[in-house]
Amino acid sequence: MSAKSIFSLVQGQPTQDGNRVPLTRLVPGLGQHGAEAFRAMDPFLLMDHFGPMVLNPGTDAGFPPHPHKGFQTLTYLIQGAFKHRDSTGGSGLLRPGGAQLMNAGAGIVHEEMPVPEQLETGGPIEGVQLWINLPKAHKGSAPGYTDLQPESMPWAPLPGGRIRVLAGTWAGVTGPAQTPARMAYAHLELEAGARFEQALPEGWTVAVVPLRGSVRIEGRDVAADTVALLGEGERLVLAASSSASLMLLAGKPLGEPIAHYGPFVMNTREEIEQAVLDYQQGRMGHLD
Ligand code: MN
Repeated sequence: MSAKSIFSLVQGQPTQDGNRVPLTRLVPGLGQHGAEAFRAMDPFLLMDHFGPMVLNPGTDAGFPPHPHKGFQTLTYLIQGAFKHRDSTGGSGLLRPGGAQLMNAGAGIVHEEMPVPEQLETGGPIEGVQLWINLPKAHKGSAPGYTDLQPESMPWAPLPGGRIRVLAGTWAGVTGPAQTPARMAYAHLELEAGARFEQALPEGWTVAVVPLRGSVRIEGRDVAADTVALLGEGERLVLAASSSASLMLLAGKPLGEPIAHYGPFVMNTREEIEQAVLDYQQGRMGHLD
């Protein structure tokens, strides 16, 4: 079986979002025109890697209330803590090793903010938020949250490393997140020199994103905060050049039109205009 080689390597862009949260935005189609940028990793739209950083006491770095429509976010916390609330009345606490899957569906307003203890003492924070597109038939679905506790996706040992599977199946381990888009998503940690191999379904989008350290794929190095989008072949084969922490993504492309504006991802311009109106006129609800 042939090993996949790298189709494109795109470095993440340092930016800020929410309440002055420094993050690296990873969009493999960055530089392409408009919504085309969001098509490159179909069914995934983008990935934000926030931290690792140490917050000073009193730093209210977080994401105050804002809307979303037409896709899902899967937020995975590696260090620190976040409290979330949304306009459906949902709320919860995000802990290290845990995640939350938000279905924005027909429209939601939510916030993610530091917990009071962290506000008082400061401390380390790191996480990854992945935007997963919804098929057209699910863009009008009921919004809501699913909390994925760390206990539901424990580390599984591997030769020279360990893996935590959030969705789909990697290394024979199946994760808890259920999404309309068919996908597989995992956090992999490897010691220097360790190898990882995985067969993947034909036609799926496959991407590797090191968060720390670097890996080698078919003779090319992939540095931290870079998206390696892989080309044809049956197997992902990689080796850690140094001690490395990385996210693995695989998904079946939706192949549907994408219209995008800020926090809304729909199929047509008209649907985006409607989303903006819905939000402005309060139809996505509000936080109490
Ligand atoms: Mn958000």
